[in-house]
Amino acid sequence: MIQRFYSYYKPHRRLFIVDFSCAVIVALLELAFPLAVQWFIDSLLPGEDWPTIATVSVGLLVLYIISTLLQYIVNYWGHMLGINIETDMRQQLFQHVQKQSFKFFDNTKTGHIMSRITNDLFDIGELAHHGPEDLFIAVMTFFGAFWIMMTINIQLALVTVCILPFLVVLIIFSNMKMNKAWKQMYTEVADVNARVEDSVSGVRVVQSFTNENYEMDRFSGNNKKFRKAKLRGYKVMSFSSSGIYMMTRFMTLAVLVVGAWLVYENRLSYGEMVGFVLYVNVLFKPVDKISALMELYPKGMAGFKRFTELLDVDPDVQDKPGAEIVESLLGDISFSKVSFGYDDKRTVLNEIDLTIHAGETVAFVGPSGAGKTTICSLIPRFYDVTNGSIKIDGIDVREMTKQSLRSQIGIVQQDVFLFTGTLKENIAYGMLGATDEQIYDAAKKAHLESFIAGLPDGYETQIGERGLKLSGGQKQRIAIARMFLKNPPILILDEATSALDTETEMIIQEALTELAVNRTTLVIAHRLATIRNADRIVVVTEEGIAEQGKHDELIDQGGIFANLHRVQFQR
Ligand code: ADP
Ligand code: MG
Repeated sequence: MIQRFYSYYKPHRRLFIVDFSCAVIVALLELAFPLAVQWFIDSLLPGEDWPTIATVSVGLLVLYIISTLLQYIVNYWGHMLGINIETDMRQQLFQHVQKQSFKFFDNTKTGHIMSRITNDLFDIGELAHHGPEDLFIAVMTFFGAFWIMMTINIQLALVTVCILPFLVVLIIFSNMKMNKAWKQMYTEVADVNARVEDSVSGVRVVQSFTNENYEMDRFSGNNKKFRKAKLRGYKVMSFSSSGIYMMTRFMTLAVLVVGAWLVYENRLSYGEMVGFVLYVNVLFKPVDKISALMELYPKGMAGFKRFTELLDVDPDVQDKPGAEIVESLLGDISFSKVSFGYDDKRTVLNEIDLTIHAGETVAFVGPSGAGKTTICSLIPRFYDVTNGSIKIDGIDVREMTKQSLRSQIGIVQQDVFLFTGTLKENIAYGMLGATDEQIYDAAKKAHLESFIAGLPDGYETQIGERGLKLSGGQKQRIAIARMFLKNPPILILDEATSALDTETEMIIQEALTELAVNRTTLVIAHRLATIRNADRIVVVTEEGIAEQGKHDELIDQGGIFANLHRVQFQR
């Protein structure tokens, strides 16, 4: 784990070295100053050589200034190092999350992902900055100061040693406790985020049911748990820092008392006494640092552990080594003995066989929950089949790169996801880098032109968060415009018009019919009127494919489709 943590320093090696070296120099100067003071008192003052005293004072001033400058560098560049590492990690995590399969997102809360990409990394960045540097400096200063103290007066140095074992026990004990507390805190903060995400994105439902109080209570539960976990951590921390404070004061006092006695016995000079007291402070600076690290280390490491946990989730839909990059597919699709389930408990599709010819328009009908959407999500490999295979133009979809396969398939769903931004940006999502001409052309084909012309800001209109300011029919036309830009040989229309009123549906149907020209098209439809002209109709039930054939043939057969048809048109 620690090794893995260190690997993030590699790209910033230079920064680390500069920062680290400056920190070491600062620490050495800190170690030297009390010696200088001691020498000043014991050797310089009695000689009353004022010019030398003045020169030495100026020299000390220069050293202090240098030390201050170096401390600025250590502070600023050290933080820069931490921020750089944090930024790298955040980028890596975001990239990794983008690669995850649908299954991952089915089972992971958005708020949890957000909290890892934002919160968790703060502490990791802090640790990356302070961790190795402070630890090294602390150890160096501590032993350095102790060694010098030994050379000044062994008896006095031994007094300080007595307190050390207590200190070590305290540090180890609280470190263990805090580790646990911070880990708990990360779990709770992720839950808080998940709850906020859920309630805010569902706020319209919350308010329409006037369930604000219910949501508040649920949130308050999470919020209190978070408070409790965080408090537990700080309780341990306060306990240990008070303990450390107490021990340091004890030690100073002990040194003063024993030192006074030694001076009285003439075994210690005044300068040595002052120097020694100063060194007790130098000795305790690293202890302070270590106690600060004790907060940082468990926090940062708990965060890092969660970070790597997420980073180690392999996307379950991946490119095979040597996967083929396919271009301009014709769109011959064949399912052979395809079985699939979202989990091990239940199979949704069982040994489905189906052939769709290039350029054909095939409609899928059947009860909701039968598996129509599932069949279509297997083609772009949103999920991988459990058994059997799906081939396009004779090539198994698992043998193609995800990128090239998906670039050949366009999907229009019932819910159109729009991004916060302008109309134009949302249309252009179908082909990043499309020219204005191409965008206008696509909008025209999607019958969006007159709507956009009526807007004061035209293409630059802000559509609100997730397209909130648009009607269902308008959103659907944006989705269609995106498809005209993408121009894929295979098209999947999954209940694209089911949520619309009949009149809007007719307008959109026109655009969809134009879109389907020269493409292999799979249409999932509720209203049977919209699929009358399909080349073939496939009736899907929970048992699998029940019937298929042309519209009129199926009516004549008098089976499930004929039944569905009768029910719909009697109303
Ligand atoms: P249709 O599109 O015909 O209405 P679906 O393909 O959406 O049906 O669903 C088929 C079955 O798979 C349903 O029983 C549904 O509950 C289940 N299902 C759909 N999506 C998921 C998913 N992401 N995770 C688990 N089960 C799912
Ligand atoms: Mg469906």
